[in-house]
Amino acid sequence: MKTIILIGGGHSHLFCLKKLIQQKQANEKWILISPSQYQYYSGMFSGYTEGIYSLEETRIDLKALCDSSGCDLVESTVLSIDPHAQHLLTDKGEVLNYDIVSFDIGSKNDSLEIKGLQKQNLPIKPNYRFPEQIKKLHRSPRTAFIGGGSASIEMALSLKAWKESNAHHHHTISVIHSSPLLEKAGSSTSKKITKLAEAKGIELYPSRVERISDEYVWTNDDSSIPFDEVIFLGGPKAPPLFGSSKLATDEQGFLLLNSYLQSVDFPNVFGAGDCGTLIDFPHTPKNGVTAVKQGPILWNNLLAAKNKGKLLPFEPQKRHLAIMSVGNKTGFLTYGSFSLVSNWAWRLKNWIDVRFIWRYGG
Ligand SMILES: Cc1cc2nc3c(=O)[nH]c(=O)nc-3n(C[C@H](O)[C@H](O)[C@H](O)COP(=O)(O)OP(=O)(O)OC[C@H]3O[C@@H](n4cnc5c(N)ncnc54)[C@H](O)[C@@H]3O)c2cc1C
Repeated sequence: MKTIILIGGGHSHLFCLKKLIQQKQANEKWILISPSQYQYYSGMFSGYTEGIYSLEETRIDLKALCDSSGCDLVESTVLSIDPHAQHLLTDKGEVLNYDIVSFDIGSKNDSLEIKGLQKQNLPIKPNYRFPEQIKKLHRSPRTAFIGGGSASIEMALSLKAWKESNAHHHHTISVIHSSPLLEKAGSSTSKKITKLAEAKGIELYPSRVERISDEYVWTNDDSSIPFDEVIFLGGPKAPPLFGSSKLATDEQGFLLLNSYLQSVDFPNVFGAGDCGTLIDFPHTPKNGVTAVKQGPILWNNLLAAKNKGKLLPFEPQKRHLAIMSVGNKTGFLTYGSFSLVSNWAWRLKNWIDVRFIWRYGG
């Protein structure tokens, strides 16, 4: 009997659980370890923040998925792994042995580089923390977002839309960004989203955050931005787990993977999504789209590792379509350096997101 442990209910593991419903064999034991029974879908974080979706509409019931796939659900957080002894330790003191293990545990939204951030930051990852944190953002009169990428700007605009439709017109929302907004999408897109954010009343500070005191965010040009809630969305950071384990990581602490989504030094350890870095494609974006695309490859390779079959390589796409919600059911679509703002882009995003939840029984 072989034991395969999936750690985290991220996008790629959802795909594996769904496949397991049809393909589970008698001589194998599958276990999913997740801190929560629910997997909250980040594609709908903005819509939940704006009040478009209910909590139930944005989450997948991992217990129901595990029940139908014959997988055991252990509701815990994995703290460390010993890849030589092939066991792992959870926060509840459980020690679990495995033959094959796979990580899809996402990333963190904090940064050790900003002094004072850890004390003040509102962590929305791991993603089961998201709902409680949004309640705080709804109440907060002054909210500061740190980061100029899509997660930060989308959340700022969605929160603004919620504030406007709930008569909190006097609440301020700031975005502090050390590089141009959506810089990677090119200067024309960056200018477009900057204009849109300004027109919606977002206060933009093009500066680098140096430190955070109890009441102010301090920047490198000596601006002090008052806040009641501050949230770091300046790019994904490595989960702490790999730091306390004997697995190879990149300089930032993400699990180092080969193209077969295998740990570079332990072939029975796999990884997918934000928590891993591909040694051959280190600049692959860490987003939900990548994690979804890795699902079928990960599934094939977990079975191949178990049955001594053929491993398949993962090749990241050069470009991908991205749609951010910018409030009032309007979407901001980007593809390479092309971008447009429209209602149908939001409807397309809504269709993709609702279908994703539906596919996993939400
Ligand atoms: C506000 C916001 C909006 C975003 N919007 C989009 C978007 O619209 N489109 C897009 O493509 N990307 C978006 N992203 C990025 C996206 O959230 C991530 O890239 C994506 O969720 C990564 O998926 P994943 O499968 O790696 O992990 P996740 O979806 O984060 O899932 C990881 C799971 O592992 C669990 N876990 C964590 N640690 C442990 C542990 N130690 N033990 C056991 N379980 C653990 C977590 O609870 C979680 O259930 C957004 C990010 C943010 C912050």
